[in-house]
Formats: sequence, structure tokens, C-alpha cells
Amino acid sequence: MKAYDQLIFELSTPNRVGYSLPKNDLPYDIQKDIPNNLKRTQETLLPSVAELDLVRHYSNVSRKNFGIETGFYPLGSCTMKYNPKINEEIAALPGLRNIHPLQPIETAQGSLEIYYDTSRMLSELSGMAAFSLNPFAGAQGELAGLMIMKAYHHLKGNTHKTKVIVPDSAHGTNPASATVAGFEIIEVKSNKDGTVNIKALKEAINDEVAGIMLTNPNTLGIFEKDILKISKLVHSVDGLLYYDGANLNALLGRARPGDMGFDIIHINLHKTFSTPHGGGGPGSGPVGVCKKLVEFLPAPQVYKRRNRFILDRPIHTIGHVSGFLGNFSVIIKAYSFMLTLGKENLSKVGELSVLNANYLKASLKDDFYLPIQGLCKHEVVFDGLVDKSTGVTTLDVAKRLLDFGIHPPTIYFPLVFHQSLMIEPVENESKETLDHFVGIMKQISNEAKTDPEMVKHAPYTTVVRRLDEVSAARNPRVKYRDLLK
Ligand SMILES: *Cc1c(COP(=O)(O)O)cnc(C)c1O
Repeated sequence: MKAYDQLIFELSTPNRVGYSLPKNDLPYDIQKDIPNNLKRTQETLLPSVAELDLVRHYSNVSRKNFGIETGFYPLGSCTMKYNPKINEEIAALPGLRNIHPLQPIETAQGSLEIYYDTSRMLSELSGMAAFSLNPFAGAQGELAGLMIMKAYHHLKGNTHKTKVIVPDSAHGTNPASATVAGFEIIEVKSNKDGTVNIKALKEAINDEVAGIMLTNPNTLGIFEKDILKISKLVHSVDGLLYYDGANLNALLGRARPGDMGFDIIHINLHKTFSTPHGGGGPGSGPVGVCKKLVEFLPAPQVYKRRNRFILDRPIHTIGHVSGFLGNFSVIIKAYSFMLTLGKENLSKVGELSVLNANYLKASLKDDFYLPIQGLCKHEVVFDGLVDKSTGVTTLDVAKRLLDFGIHPPTIYFPLVFHQSLMIEPVENESKETLDHFVGIMKQISNEAKTDPEMVKHAPYTTVVRRLDEVSAARNPRVKYRDLLK
């Protein structure tokens, strides 16, 4: 086994020291102040390695990682895009990095201005009246949005409005958030292309409907052309339209959910606005609302009063959804991203992400089965290989892609097809990168015909091959002690 395949614990040699603490120079023995029941009774299990071995270990571990800065990462519905380094530099400026959430707001005016201006820019981009940037993630933005929906109906005395309509093609977080907010879900069937079936919607609409959750373009990357009809229908029973804007790429600068009739929206700054994600954060899921809902936004809210920024509670606020004002560093990065691109280039995000997805669609459709014809928006969904006789599945294709240093697209989602392969190239990939990907996908399609068994046993070049996914999920061994068992 190569040294860098070992765990840090296996590299450990007793008494080897990588770092030594300075001698305690306190005038008394601090140990005496610590109650006995809080003292350690056993040695901690820590590895003993020299500094150089430690540095090599972590450098090598980091090289096994795959990220947007390692290679192409076309993960549909997740908008994995490059986070320009300038955003990191701005977020790390000492005046921003060292700010404390409890310091007097007179001394935090600059940071509050960034928060406020970011919320105004997002309002402008999405056509909403106001935003709260407090939620920490997309799903939390959804929950905040649905709590706003509920508070709106309750204030009007409409407590019988207990149902939320969610199309069957929706992102899993949508029904989950609605349920956590205390709503009952009415699932409506979609048309073949994932768009809302107006007939099914009409049947589902009644006075108990509090609202509908939609995304447009939908999960299949198709634009909901009947959106104005849908909005009219839902508004006719005083229902509210919720827009899942986790992936706003296709719309940027081209169309606005507010203009389509949406009342509440969340945006994932860690997808569309360039903070990298995966691995648990930090994220940010701002929630935006139309004019009649601004007084329901989470507290505190940042307001501008005579060129000063203040914090206050909206009159009918749903309350606090996060500590202080959300994940501020992510907000700064989104602010920096929008200002560096400017209005004109932000609309190119919409244009180029749609162009790239359609380029991949046209280039791959002879090898991969395209269930929905016509233009797509920022992502395209294939239903496995065209030639099903080889027995090579979407999972096999995804595993084989790893051998070429490409992160697989999203697979087996959306659920409306059996072999979904959902590709989102995003706007800032070059034609050369897309062509490279197309070449590899075509090669895999060819391999599936000539040597299907080889594809079914891929990958060959990764540290581990195919895992037993059920055991990995049910009995993960993630700690050194677990490995000793
Ligand atoms: C990612 C995503 C979410 C959830 O966002 P989190 O930040 O992961 O909570 C919701 N809806 C859609 C469509 C998404 O792609």
C-alpha cells in the first residue's frame, strides 16, 4: 500500500511530534480549577506524526477530492459553477471578515449596506418587492416562504387554507418543506414534458388551496409557457404562487418570476450566485416576496432610513429563522459576483447557460435517448442510452465517466424517467470543454456496444471501485474506530 493510501492513524508512530504547545507560563496550575468530573480519564486517540508527514497526508487527500476546480461538473439541478477568486478575496477583507454580529449597528453600516444592496439587486433580478437574506439554505428559504404563506392566510382568517399543490416533478425539498410548515400536499400529475397539466390543476384547485410550488423552467429544463394561466387560476382562490428559484441560471436578466405572477421565491446563492456547494455549506437561501407580503418577512430585516441602515421587525413577521442575518460571507460573494458581472453580463448568464445546454443536447441525442424534443433551458435530461439492448445503464455511464476525470451528471432524477441523466453545463464552460465531454460520452456509448461488460464494471482508475451502496448508506464506517472493528 502506498503511503498516501494510509489513514493518518496508520501513519502514526508513538511519541512522534508534529507540533508542541508552548510551556504553560501561567503563575498557577490551571488544572486545579477544572472539576474532576470534567477531566479526561483516558488518553485521547490522536495520531502522532511529524509535520511533514501531516502536510503530505492532507495534500494527498485533497488531491483525491473532485471539485469544480478539478474538472467538468455537469450536475443537473445543482448548478455547480466556478466561484471567481475575487469573491473570496472580497469576503475575506478584514473589515468584513472580522465584523461581529453583536457590535453596534452604527459601526456596521458598510456591512448592512452590502446586505441591503444585495437584497435590492435580487429584487430587481427576480421582480420581487423585497428579500430577506437570513435563511441558511434553499430548503430553509422554502420553509420560511411557506411560513409566510401560512401567516398571510391566517391573518386574513383563512385558516381553512391547508393545502399546497406540488407537481410530481418537483424537487424533493418542496413537498418536504410544505409538510414541515404544516400543509397537506396535493400532488398534481405533470404532462409528458414535465409542465403542469392545466386540466389536473383545475381539478385540484379549490378554496382550501393555500398555494402552489413551482419552478420555471421546470425540473426537466422546460419553460412553463402556461405560467400566466396557472397564476390566474391559483390567484382566483387567493392562493399564492411559490417559486423554487434554487437554479436561476436560465432566467438571469431574461425573465423574472415576479412578472410571471409569483408571490414568494427563494434563491440559492450557493448555486446561481457562485458560492461553491456540496459537503454541507455554508449556503444561503434568500426568500423574496411580492408587495403584499413584505411585512411577513423574517426578522430582523435591514431597512434604509435617511441614508442609514437599521434593523427592525416587519409588522407581521414570521420571526427569526436564523441567527442574526444569515451566512454573511456567502452574501458578500453574491454581491461581489453581481457587481463584477454588472447588469449586461448577468443577462449573458441566462443566454450562455441555455446555449450550452442546447449544444450538449444536440450533440448527444444520437447516442443518448432524448425523451423531450425542442428547446431546453439551462439543463437537459436524457433517458439512458438510445441502444437499450446492451444492458448498460445510466449508473454504468456515470461510473465510467469517473475514469475520464469528469464528475457524473445527476442520475435517476427526475423520477419521471427510468434512466434519467440530467446534465447542466452552466454558462462559463468553454466550447472546448463541452466538446471534450461530448467526445467522452460518445466513446462510452460506443464502448457500451462493443464491450458492455467493461462499462458495467467501471470505474478502473479511482481509489475505490464500486461500493456496496446499500451497506455504505446503512452501515457507514466513517471513523477510525469503526475500521478497527
Ligand atoms: C438545491 C435545490 C434545493 C435545496 O437547496 P439546499 O440549499 O440544498 O437546501 C431546492 N430546490 C431545488 C430545485 C434545488 O436544486
